[in-house]
Amino acid sequence: MEQESSFLDRVLKIVKDESAAHIPLVQFKHPKELEVILHDDIDISEPVSDQDLEQSVRKVLHYSVKTNKSTFRNQLYGGTDPYGLAGAWIAEAFNTSQYTYEVAPVFTLIENKMLDHILKLFGFPDGDGIFSPGGSLSMLYALVAARYKAFPEVKAKGIRNLPEMVIYSSEGSHYSIMKAAHWLGFGTESVRRIKCNQCGQMLTDELEKAMTEDLSNNKVPIMVNGTAGTTVLGAIDNLEEVARICSKYNVWMHVDACWGGSLILSQKYRMKLKGIEQANSISWNPHKMAGAPLQCSLFLLKEKGLLHEANAAAAQYLFQQDKFYDVRYDTGDKSIQCGRKIDAFKLWMIWKARGDIGLNHMTDHVMELAEFCMETVAQKVGFRLVSAPLQCPNVCFWYIPTFMRHQKEDVKWWDLMHKITPKIKEILMTSSRLMVAYSPLRDHKNFFRLAFTFHPRLDEKEIIDMLQAIEDCGEMLSLDIL
Ligand SMILES: *Cc1c(COP(=O)(O)O)cnc(C)c1O
Repeated sequence: MEQESSFLDRVLKIVKDESAAHIPLVQFKHPKELEVILHDDIDISEPVSDQDLEQSVRKVLHYSVKTNKSTFRNQLYGGTDPYGLAGAWIAEAFNTSQYTYEVAPVFTLIENKMLDHILKLFGFPDGDGIFSPGGSLSMLYALVAARYKAFPEVKAKGIRNLPEMVIYSSEGSHYSIMKAAHWLGFGTESVRRIKCNQCGQMLTDELEKAMTEDLSNNKVPIMVNGTAGTTVLGAIDNLEEVARICSKYNVWMHVDACWGGSLILSQKYRMKLKGIEQANSISWNPHKMAGAPLQCSLFLLKEKGLLHEANAAAAQYLFQQDKFYDVRYDTGDKSIQCGRKIDAFKLWMIWKARGDIGLNHMTDHVMELAEFCMETVAQKVGFRLVSAPLQCPNVCFWYIPTFMRHQKEDVKWWDLMHKITPKIKEILMTSSRLMVAYSPLRDHKNFFRLAFTFHPRLDEKEIIDMLQAIEDCGEMLSLDIL
């Protein structure tokens, strides 16, 4: 035991050493190479000494991606808030489950406090909610709530006697809605993907048209999923218009604000989410823009009680009603999970340390940087924006190398651009300069997405350096290596 705890004492040092400033972002190896390099370290056939264990752990970290670096722009998460990380460590060390008050008394009060505070921010003062292990799970919650509200008998009888139900979501929305539709027995064909405008916002006329068409065919619209911050373009649907349509046809309105929900933290930018307060439910991932350690996601509902009703299974060995304390503080039966991590605590640590005011500044800073990036890209020779103006802190663009410029941009040219973007990414990554996302979208060929998060705090110079890295690597290409 003594030996084990001294290993624990060394952990902070190991992590600090292996993620120090001079350590490169990534040391990319192909899987087969990495299997050889780390073969003995990954092997578990024999027990090893603490010294050997430390050596192996250091090697594991050596080849791991340093997502806390400013040059990690590969995903919508990145560096964690140091207070959040501390919260994650503390919560892990006190290893418990969020399901009952008796095993998590203070963590229960903290989850309630966080829910209250966040519900008010989003405009659900009498709402309800739960922390969930990610936005995809939050999407499942939304569909379960919407379906239960329309057909409460579904809980006992299943869907076999229910009419055909339809779910609406934009073409730019997150793929989790397809998985949820499958898992919940609707089937993926029950999701109508509504077309978007050039900026990636759902065409609400198309939404209404699809809905009236389905109604006249005796189908039942069960939920509209509006998006506040699409994964690629960062588009925010016209939520007021979505709300108008949902209320007209009495359909559950969910807003997937996993990415863009963080804008609610800013007095200046929360305007972009207007209409969200009219939703029936919202999902938000503080583990993305706001830098809470993975996973930290919330599912919020306007109606109190529904979450419990829809999900409760009343296990008598866990949620006994004759306990000696107020059992309303046992919140676990609202959840699909049994054991549930203390995700609220990570966010509480961040909020407690920084306050609304600190989070407000961080949001503003990220949006200002993204504005700067967008303006720079718009003016910089060889760069071309995919979509403007800025909605969330996503900036999407192509880099057109010199040898591709001033040519007719026909199908062949674009097919080449489609290959150029991933090739530039490869060079950026194998030289450890930058990890950046790319994607095609609709008829757009592969382009880059730079998205910005609270941590680490970037400045304009670092953004200029990132664009320079893309340009440098783009200029290394020529027709014959493509
Ligand atoms: C990331 C994302 C999700 C999924 O969240 P996970 O926590 O990764 O499951 C859902 N919706 C949007 C818009 C996202 O960007």
